[in-house]
Amino acid sequence: MTGPVRVRFAPSPTGHLHLGNARTALFNWLFARHEEGTFILRVEDTDTVRSTDESERMILDDLRWLGLDWDEGPGVGGEFGPYRQSERGGIYREHAERLLAEGKAFTCYCSDERLEKNRKRARDEGTVPQYDGTCRHLSESERRAYERDGIRPTIRLRAPEANIIVEDMIRGRVEFGKEMLGDFIILRSDGRPTYNFAVVVDDALMKITHVIRAEDHLPNTMRQQFLYSRLGYELPLFAHVSLIVAQDRSKLSKRRAATSVHELRRAGFLPSAVTNYLALLGWSHPEAKEILSREELVGAFNLKRVSASAAAFDDDKLEWVNGHHLRESPLSVVVAAAKPFAGSAGFDPDDARFPAIVDLVRDGLDRLSNLPEEIAPFYDREFDLEPEAEEWVSQHESRELLGALADSLAAARGKLDAAEFKAALKSQGSGLGLKGKGLFMPTRAALTGRTHGPALGSTAELLGRKRVISRCRAAAGNVEKQ
Ligand code: GLU
Repeated sequence: MTGPVRVRFAPSPTGHLHLGNARTALFNWLFARHEEGTFILRVEDTDTVRSTDESERMILDDLRWLGLDWDEGPGVGGEFGPYRQSERGGIYREHAERLLAEGKAFTCYCSDERLEKNRKRARDEGTVPQYDGTCRHLSESERRAYERDGIRPTIRLRAPEANIIVEDMIRGRVEFGKEMLGDFIILRSDGRPTYNFAVVVDDALMKITHVIRAEDHLPNTMRQQFLYSRLGYELPLFAHVSLIVAQDRSKLSKRRAATSVHELRRAGFLPSAVTNYLALLGWSHPEAKEILSREELVGAFNLKRVSASAAAFDDDKLEWVNGHHLRESPLSVVVAAAKPFAGSAGFDPDDARFPAIVDLVRDGLDRLSNLPEEIAPFYDREFDLEPEAEEWVSQHESRELLGALADSLAAARGKLDAAEFKAALKSQGSGLGLKGKGLFMPTRAALTGRTHGPALGSTAELLGRKRVISRCRAAAGNVEKQ
């Protein structure tokens, strides 16, 4: 294969975008961007029972959220369209008819009951179920008789006469015995193509140069490679990426971890963190760097560094990567992503202080679903003191400190800033002989109800003079009431 790289992601719209498929999309996208090639999106919706428009919409939306933009495909167009298989029926029929005319395929009138009986017999005998060849050599008059009876045939490809050898870019040479392939169906009796047939016709006509997809498609590749040879199309290069498994090497299951992009979005992962983490599932940076921006991923991505062994999904690591992205991304990006999380918890994301609040708390965040809890102290909502915080403010010296601090802050005017607050705290503390923990803990407890959190001076600045004074007084007053 020579010429510019053309790769595709070909989802079946039968549910959310699964993490395994998202990783396949990402590898194709990274490869295309690295090679300055073309990334194509093709919707494989020939399974009319399971495919839905709603799934297609969700998958496209998740791809856009991940930033995996496509150069050709639904909504974008391109010279090799249409890009939905359901709109390409005529193209598949034409190809099937060509194979029929060339004698490489034949029409099959066998009933489902007969085929099922054959399959059952093979299973009982412990052999691979294969078409028994009943319609392989029908005469023209036999065919016409079936047609007269109104039987709509399937179209089957004649089985190969030699083994099929797939040269995979990641797995090397994989040989499939010819006995593994019978005369398989390429067009169903209702005219719909089978998956393998549609994929080959589309990949060939769309001039796909590299087929990058998960390892569980290898048996399909055996069929597809044979189809290429029968259709006389040039083979693309194949790269089968290993599967993503759970920590204990079992299948990734919904019960134990997030399995879709949709779930990660809702849990508050940034798209840059998800693509960063997914890239590391099966690929590694040449200098073993683990926190990578999208540009760095594009710059370094290479199929040679894709591993042949299964990649284990690790939630903790995903959170760790997300924490980095939350801290290191431009504030505007984090603020935009944070808004819906604040809004749905009832905290006004349009408050003028919101960006500064997010900037202050993002250090301690590993997912945005924890944001509401972190920003709560900055809003005017009643909060209970945590037990340890309660203990600090219930001490006599604390009460004195908080009262004095409130008075000194009330004596001044204008916007409270961190420097003024810290100076006031220090001076009241030294008057009472308090320093270190004895000074900071009760103050933080009074201001936020907690004993841990972001820098105290900045916290006070964001709360503003009025809130700081009233919270100090409330904490001091509570104690007096006891
Ligand atoms: N529609 C197939 C799937 O979702 C695509 C496989 C392929 O990439 O050829 O698994």
